[in-house]
Amino acid sequence: MPMNVKPVPTLDERINDIRMRTAEIVNEHILPHERELWPRREGAELAEHDRRRAHELREEVKRRVWEAGLWAPHLPKEYGGMGLDFLAHAYMNEVLAYAMGAATLFGVVAPNSGNQKILVKYGTEEQKQKWLVPMVEGTMESGFSMTEPHNPGSDPRSLDTTATLDGDHWVINGHKWFTSNGIDADFFIVMCRVVDESGEQGRTGQMAQIIVPTSTKGVNVVRGIGIWGRPTSDHCEVVYEDVRVPVENMLGRVGEGHQAAQDRLGAGRIYHCMNSVGQMWRAFDMMVERATTRQVHGGLLKDKQFIQGFIADSYQDIMAARLMTIHAAEKLDRDDSDARTDISAIKVFVPAAYHRVVDRAIQVWGAAGISNDLPLGLMYQGARTLRLADGPDEVHKILIAKNVLHRYEAGEGWDFGN
Ligand SMILES: Cc1cc2nc3c(=O)[nH]c(=O)nc-3n(C[C@H](O)[C@H](O)[C@H](O)COP(=O)(O)OP(=O)(O)OC[C@H]3O[C@@H](n4cnc5c(N)ncnc54)[C@H](O)[C@@H]3O)c2cc1C
Repeated sequence: MPMNVKPVPTLDERINDIRMRTAEIVNEHILPHERELWPRREGAELAEHDRRRAHELREEVKRRVWEAGLWAPHLPKEYGGMGLDFLAHAYMNEVLAYAMGAATLFGVVAPNSGNQKILVKYGTEEQKQKWLVPMVEGTMESGFSMTEPHNPGSDPRSLDTTATLDGDHWVINGHKWFTSNGIDADFFIVMCRVVDESGEQGRTGQMAQIIVPTSTKGVNVVRGIGIWGRPTSDHCEVVYEDVRVPVENMLGRVGEGHQAAQDRLGAGRIYHCMNSVGQMWRAFDMMVERATTRQVHGGLLKDKQFIQGFIADSYQDIMAARLMTIHAAEKLDRDDSDARTDISAIKVFVPAAYHRVVDRAIQVWGAAGISNDLPLGLMYQGARTLRLADGPDEVHKILIAKNVLHRYEAGEGWDFGN
């Protein structure tokens, strides 16, 4: 069924207009063609004809998006994006996430989108022309290479991949994994610990992000790591062995690496949560649709109290998740120093709520719920994965408690009204 999007009375006309136009493309040009757009999702062997048709359809939708001025909401206009402000983008995301994979048709493809934002903020003009512009034009792919198998990703300060200054080159040695998009990427942004005895580029031990073309000698993409029972994926294990790149490939300054990674994740978490809200909305619609049509034991599912409980619980989960996310977005938008606490709160709450809502939708659909005919199975895995990626739940709970306790230790209570 189409997503029911109407203007929100508290939003300004411009944001409502963006949401309505996004919904029109999602409802009319993506949802009715989901199967043809993404035929591989159903696990079928693809005939050349189907592959070509899928490609043509995707290009057609992208053209519509572009003509509607909705391409790349996360980027400034001078780099081919919509130049949207933060809140407008967040509100747009819940609409475009309703259809699985739609974000890619609007030019938002992780991890490229995160890397693009980092390049906009930290890149030199030369770096932007060389790496950002081709990514926006779709001729280049990228990955973000931070997590290491032998160190806890939840404590990025433990990473030990080194970048050693040697004349006018950095020499990188290290072992990473879960570098997403690793198969197709033309370059990785690699998080390293700098070794610079001269101190010319920065203090030894400080963190930095370095752009590494994947064709550089010594970049070994060992494997696509199999996940969720599948034999492989594009989340890759990568070994960097004496990889030499010019000093101008440093992104930002030595010592800015940790902050740049945080920037990549901070606002990104709001967008991810709005995506989850959009997907919960879809799962909810699917659940209710099934409950109103499926006959079991002499009556429709909608008339069984267990199922009514699923509907009521899911309604509350979606409402709570959405309002918490909007609240956090508004705080971040006005640079409120408490926004960090709220971002951690939604990072824990929203994926868990998403997980519960999809779980109930699967239950209502029975066996069909886990079949490849419906998007629910993929949503379920996505929701579970979100509890690990971008910092696992526990790390965020620790941060929330720490910030709250500081306030009370300073003799003040928490102001839930702001
Ligand atoms: C699908 C997917 C895609 C990813 N893509 C990328 C990518 O593109 N680039 C990249 O660099 N990384 C990527 N990652 C890695 C991800 O960021 C890490 O998995 C995450 O940061 C957790 O690190 P870890 O796996 O090493 O777990 P660990 O740090 O070893 O943590 C394991 C568990 O310990 C618990 N824990 C951690 N700290 C505490 C604490 N203080 N107290 C109590 N319990 C704690 C948590 O339950 C946690 O789940 C991806 C991961 C997934 C699953």
